Amino acid sequence: MPPGPGDGDRKDTHMRRTVPASSYVAVALTVALTAIGLCAVGARSEPAAGRPLTGLASLAARPAAHPFGGDAAGRDGIGAVAPERGVTVLAEAARADGREESLTVATGRDGTVTITAEGPGAERGAGATQVRPATATAGCADGSYTLEGFRVIRTLPFYYNPANAPANVRSTALTAIRNATHAVATGANRCAITRRLNSGATYSGATGRAAQLGAAGKCTGNDGHNVVGWGSLPSGYLAVTCIYYSDGKVLNSDVLINWNYRWFTSRPADCSNAFDVQSVVAHEQGHTFGLGHVDAKSHRAQTMATSLAACDTSKRVLGLGDYRGLAHIYGTR
Ligand SMILES: [Zn+2]
Repeated sequence: MPPGPGDGDRKDTHMRRTVPASSYVAVALTVALTAIGLCAVGARSEPAAGRPLTGLASLAARPAAHPFGGDAAGRDGIGAVAPERGVTVLAEAARADGREESLTVATGRDGTVTITAEGPGAERGAGATQVRPATATAGCADGSYTLEGFRVIRTLPFYYNPANAPANVRSTALTAIRNATHAVATGANRCAITRRLNSGATYSGATGRAAQLGAAGKCTGNDGHNVVGWGSLPSGYLAVTCIYYSDGKVLNSDVLINWNYRWFTSRPADCSNAFDVQSVVAHEQGHTFGLGHVDAKSHRAQTMATSLAACDTSKRVLGLGDYRGLAHIYGTR
């Protein structure tokens, strides 16, 4: 059952522009947000009727400061190369400074390219330290979720590219990434719900293929291989995910984690300003499986909340809303 709207404070700014078809379209945008930023909300097309849009809210676009249409290689903007006809790419950026970014670039069957972003009001100005880690069972009374409008068909085969992994997590990151991906795919949660989702993920092995993102956080292509890997992203980005889909079906999802940040897979006792690989990947794969964001203020304990505190490990599995969103898409068994 979809929950009712959570907070009713949706005040998204929705921006769209259509540009002529071209073989290459670079776009950049920056949207401002609250608190320690996990990646950005699904910047996406108009919500489908009946879709359980809850308090998503998320982003505040600031077109004056960060106009669309810039060079995607710019320092302060994610971007995407326009995909092939009939395909949309959603670029999601997880930021470490409390702001969020996302955009969609859709190439219509007629070749028209449409760039869309949406977000909530102004930057709320919170910093990383202002987001408290959720408790281990938090989020089990909150059934709110939002959906992106696409789904993984059957199971998600995914690869891991270990190149560039930070030394301190080199031997453990794969397990964290696998655990996070399987948690999302099967519905593992912190709310004692035992019914599994009718979806799955299969680890397909290590690969030398790169997640197809440029160093500026630009989605550069869709080779049909779902890769999680490490690389350099602009300062401020924890991770960027590029999801290609067509007719509501995911074609490809790549996750690039910024190796310039401090990461851990086992929370150190003196943890400070380091991020949990498993929690970040669970959030990113939540997007891959079709979840959008919920507002960080109203639904902060959900894995798909727009914020993640440094050192927080509570979001390795799903909250109630996250689970219900996926159950809405895939059903349970
Ligand atoms: Zn996100």
